Amino acid sequence: MAKNIQAIRGMHDILPENSALWLSLEARIMAVLAGYGYQEIRTPIAEMTELFRRSIGDVTDIVEKEMYTFDDRNGDSLTLRPEGTAGCVRAGIQNGLFHNQTQRLWYRGPMFRHERPQKGRYRQFYQIGVEAFGLEGPDIDLEVIAITRRFWKVLRLEGLQLQINTLGTADERLIYRERLVAYLSTHKEMLDNESRHRLQTNPLRILDSKNPHMRELIEQAPTLMEYLGEASRRHFEGLCSGLRSLGIDYVVNPRLVRGLDYYARTVFEWVTDRLGAQGTVCAGGRYDGLVEQLGGRATPAVGFAMGLERLILLLEQQPESLPVGVPDAYMVMVGEAAQAAGPQLAETLRDRLPALRMLCHCGGGSFKSQFKKADRSGARYALILGEEELNRGVIGIKPLRDDSEQQQVGLAGLAEYLQAHL
Ligand code: ATP
Ligand code: MG
Repeated sequence: MAKNIQAIRGMHDILPENSALWLSLEARIMAVLAGYGYQEIRTPIAEMTELFRRSIGDVTDIVEKEMYTFDDRNGDSLTLRPEGTAGCVRAGIQNGLFHNQTQRLWYRGPMFRHERPQKGRYRQFYQIGVEAFGLEGPDIDLEVIAITRRFWKVLRLEGLQLQINTLGTADERLIYRERLVAYLSTHKEMLDNESRHRLQTNPLRILDSKNPHMRELIEQAPTLMEYLGEASRRHFEGLCSGLRSLGIDYVVNPRLVRGLDYYARTVFEWVTDRLGAQGTVCAGGRYDGLVEQLGGRATPAVGFAMGLERLILLLEQQPESLPVGVPDAYMVMVGEAAQAAGPQLAETLRDRLPALRMLCHCGGGSFKSQFKKADRSGARYALILGEEELNRGVIGIKPLRDDSEQQQVGLAGLAEYLQAHL
C-alpha cells in the first residue's frame, strides 16, 4: 500500500480539540484591538520576492536563509510572506492609505519561514500584528505597548517581561556601527564563525548572539545609547516616562537589536522563561524609514507581531484559564415523530437564542445510544424529545454535569428556561 502523505515538516494542523482555544485567543485579542480603534487589513499570503528583499534587508536571517521563494508560471519570483509588515506597507502605499492620514491597523494569518522546527518554532506559524502609521511621537509607541499589556491582562497570562531599547536613527546607528565593528575587530579571536560573517554584513546582530562564549565580550561592548542624538534621547525618555505613568514595568536591554533591518528608535519584546529557548512571544518597534524605502512618502510607523503558537503554549500551561468550549445542549430524539419535529424545534430555539450552542443528534438509534453521545459531547443538558413528550407538548431536560433530576418543560417555555439556566 502506498505510504500516506504527511503534512510538510514544521507545518501543523490545528485539530478540533485545540481549535476552541485558538478561537477564543483570537477573539479576545480582536476585542482588545477594537477597543483601541484598530482596523483589520488583509493582504495576500504571497508577495513579490523583491518586496521582502527591499524591506527586511538582504543580510537578515529571514532573507538569507528562511524564505519560501519560488518562480510562478510566469517566471516571477514570489515568496510566501515571512512576516506581515512588508505586505501592510506595500498595500498602504498602493492604496493611498498614508496620504495625510493616520492608520491604526492590525492583521493576522500564517507566516512562513524555513527554520529548524522545534517547540515554539515552526515553518508555518500564525501571527497577529499591529501597525500604526503617520504618528511620530512616543505617545503612539506607548499606545501599542499598552495594547500588548492589555492582551496579557485579558488572557490572564503571567510571567511576561517587557524589554525595551532604542536603535536611534539610521545616522546614529551608522556611527555606532563603526565603533562596534572597531571594538569587535580587536577581539576577533573570540567571535564564532557566524559572528565573523556578521561583522561584515550586520554587526548589530552580533549583540543578539546566544553563544555563551561571547557573553562577556558582548556585555563589554559599547552601547548605542551612548551615541544617541538629542531627539532620539527625548523620544526614548518620553516612552519610558509614559510606561511608568501607565504602571507598565519594563527593563532596558541595550542588547535588544531585533532581527530585521528596518527598525529605528523604539524596539521592544515581551519575553517569558516558560518556553525554553523560544521565549519571545511578542516583538516590535518603530520603523520610520520603511514606507519611504518602499517608494511611499516618508511616513513614521510603529508596530509589533505576536506568535500565536507561543501564546497557545503559555495558555496550555495554565489550564484554569482555558475556555471550556463545550455545547450547552444536545438534543436526543427518539421515534419517527420526534425526529421529524426535533429539527424544527431546534431552529426555533436558535432564532430565539442566537448564542446557544446546541448539537442535534443525527443518525437515529436507541435512546440509550443517543444519550451516551449526549454525555460524551460534554454538553451541560440533554434535551429529550420522544413520542410521549411530543403528545404532551413538553421536552425532558436532563442535566448531564451534576446529579440533579430530569425536568419537564413546556415547549413554549423552553427558550426562557434555557436562557435562565445557561
Ligand atoms: P526569534 O528570535 O524567536 O526567531 P524573530 O525575531 O525572528 O524571533 P519576529 O520576526 O520578530 O521574530 O516575529 C515576531 C514573533 O513571531 C516572535 O516573537 C515569535 O513569537 C513569533 N515567531 C517568529 N518566528 C517564529 C517561528 N518560526 N515559529 C513560531 N513563532 C515564530
Ligand atoms: Mg527568527
